[in-house]
Amino acid sequence: MRLSRYFLPVMKESPAEAQIVSHKLMLRAGLVRQTAAGIYAWLPLGLRVLQKISQIVREEQDRAGAIELLMPTLQSADLWRESGRYDAYGPEMLRITDRHDREILYGPTNEEMITSVFRDAARSYRDLPRTLYHIQWKFRDEVRPRFGVMRGREFLMKDAYSFDLDEAGARHSYNRMFVAYLRTYKRMGLRAIPMQADTGPIGGDLSHEFIVLAPTGESEVFYHTAWEQDRALDVNADDAVALQEFVGALTADYAATDEKRDLDREREAGEALCTSRGIEVGHIFYFGTKYSDSMGLKVQGPGGTEIVPQMGSYGIGVSRLMGAIIEASHDDKGIVWPDAVAPYAVGLINMRADDAACAAAADDLYATLTAAGVEVLYDDRDERGGAKFATMDLIGLPWQIVVGPKGLANGVVEVKRRATGEKVELSPEDAVARVS
Ligand code: ATP
Ligand code: MG
Ligand code: MG
Ligand code: MG
Repeated sequence: MRLSRYFLPVMKESPAEAQIVSHKLMLRAGLVRQTAAGIYAWLPLGLRVLQKISQIVREEQDRAGAIELLMPTLQSADLWRESGRYDAYGPEMLRITDRHDREILYGPTNEEMITSVFRDAARSYRDLPRTLYHIQWKFRDEVRPRFGVMRGREFLMKDAYSFDLDEAGARHSYNRMFVAYLRTYKRMGLRAIPMQADTGPIGGDLSHEFIVLAPTGESEVFYHTAWEQDRALDVNADDAVALQEFVGALTADYAATDEKRDLDREREAGEALCTSRGIEVGHIFYFGTKYSDSMGLKVQGPGGTEIVPQMGSYGIGVSRLMGAIIEASHDDKGIVWPDAVAPYAVGLINMRADDAACAAAADDLYATLTAAGVEVLYDDRDERGGAKFATMDLIGLPWQIVVGPKGLANGVVEVKRRATGEKVELSPEDAVARVS
């Protein structure tokens, strides 16, 4: 993409409404624009990151055996009356009336809808187990939308729902998601700590929030230092016993949000106990037959008996993750994107757009990189070098290649790694090889 033809409205100053660094940088780097309280337009660069994050989420869901579908954002109130949640949900639900005076709502989550979709199709025990997911916009009328996309009112969520024949099966489905979540965050360069969360009336230990540590996070968290180490995630998720052991071993180390603190275990941890703030980037939940019971989902068992499926739901805050990644990866000059979610891999800078030799060499590099399948944002504008550097640092692409007259005279261009600031001079061919 040539910057001269792109839409990248960057800002020099931090907008006054932004309190935390990710919000400031998302506005300054031209990723999003607020259009109403807690509602954002995703600008081209931000959309690319959102798509990269979504794709990692999708790949790990698919790998865990979940199947993608897409449900609508608008839902009928009657569906929610079946589960009793239409009245229970409260003011976070955006309620709308259509021209025929029918009540509809903008979905804050999809348990009811997926249960009805599955209910209409599943007939026998052979239709289970299944885990279905979608990546879709949600709306919650948060009292205090803030911190940009971190707590929006409209936000993108991946939500998955599992249907199993019995509790053991449901636990296996839960454990598959547990590991898929850790893999997902790791691929984005994040360390998310699973923390036991409230299970409500069902009880048990099958609810975890996944929390990324950050001083600006909204939750207060307590954890054992062991969580600061990288964990290997190579386990065969098809083997229910091995997987259960793996998850059990992983969660043996203490980690809790302030609502679930265990002071005995904290005393046990002693010096190894850490406290921090954190961002909830995901939440998984086993809730048994809550919705299958209330909404009449059942299938025929092998002997003609009726089985009421056991269900779980699994959410990831896709748009919130973008804020969390920036909180975890930035410096005083701007964003430092991890390679896996960067909107472009390379920022190519032509220092002298008015110099024919420079322009030709930069055009050449752009063509070669593009042909090699590298995603390049090419600053071909007629602007000062300093402004170009500042913009590239701000938007945080992992690599920068700078083409200037002095280097060219010696047959080299400069390659800079954004994360470390490390610079090397290489021939254009070697530069291509370095960033590919
Ligand atoms: P929070 O405690 O932050 O309000 P939640 O517990 O209400 O979140 P869940 O119902 O568990 O949220 O939804 C699953 C995921 O969706 C959350 O873990 C979070 O990552 C994301 N999410 C929830 N609310 C928002 C929001 N207002 N803006 C952006 N992402 C959100
Ligand atoms: Mg909430
Ligand atoms: Mg929460
Ligand atoms: Mg939650």
